[in-house]
Amino acid sequence: MDHIKGLSIVITGASRGIGAAAASWLALKGAKVTLAARSEDEIHALADAISQDGGTAIATACDVGDYDSLRGAISQAEAAFGPVDVLVNNAGIIDPITRFEDSDPSDWSRVITINLLGVYHGMRAVLPGMKARGKGTIINISSGAATGALEGWSHYCASKAGALALTRCGDKEMSAHGVTVVGLSPGTVATDMQHEIKSSGVNPVSQLDWSDHIPPEDVAQAIGYLCGPGAAAHAGTDLRLRDAEARAEVGLAPRD
Ligand code: NAP
Repeated sequence: MDHIKGLSIVITGASRGIGAAAASWLALKGAKVTLAARSEDEIHALADAISQDGGTAIATACDVGDYDSLRGAISQAEAAFGPVDVLVNNAGIIDPITRFEDSDPSDWSRVITINLLGVYHGMRAVLPGMKARGKGTIINISSGAATGALEGWSHYCASKAGALALTRCGDKEMSAHGVTVVGLSPGTVATDMQHEIKSSGVNPVSQLDWSDHIPPEDVAQAIGYLCGPGAAAHAGTDLRLRDAEARAEVGLAPRD
């Protein structure tokens, strides 16, 4: 993972879960990390903790559903660390989990705004600079829901399918310019999102045992791998961490 040292990496949704684990993990490997999320206190506390451990991190409040807010976070990262080498579009929500007939149209569209429009906003904000420099990596955190269907998850499945389309289109436009756009489907991960899924009681994912979920640090390691040359082989697709071959490729031990 020597390739991580010195990279400027922006992570959305870095206040908890996968994003927070990735921020700590990447900073430990020598990246200059910008943590972006709505919970200002949490990201500042985490950036401080990273700095106290000898890492390099800043925090900037941002709502990925608002382009100007996300563009502002990228500007903060550029001011602190220079051009952004890697953007991890990780911010995402799943609540409320409801079947079509019970769904609230504004709640439904909020999930699309954050999970799909948020990814577009991130790509729009950094791709011109990456294209001009002829290098850069965008990692879109995907899900099995991008290609699967689950009861109560219509908003989430639609948003992740859309985000996968952005990964594919981004690669189509950018691969000739030295920019890698790749997705990462982590499988199920032990974060707050899985608590929300479990408490819904809807569909088989809510019935999984907590021990079925991988720790967020595994996803952090996969993100670290995709920051480097290994990402090229998966450009325009989702690397599926659930697959044993993918775990081995990113350097994780097999799951029982
Ligand atoms: P989590 O623990 O609930 O964390 C979600 C993160 O997204 C938080 O940091 C939250 O921060 C941020 N966020 C939400 N709305 C935002 C907004 N409008 N602007 C900026 N940040 C926002 O969830 P997680 O499990 O770590 O999920 C991270 C990503 O992995 C998501 O894209 C999710 O879909 C994906 N994923 C998760 C699993 C799983 O099993 N956990 C499986 C497949 C894919 P604030 O609330 O502070 O803004």
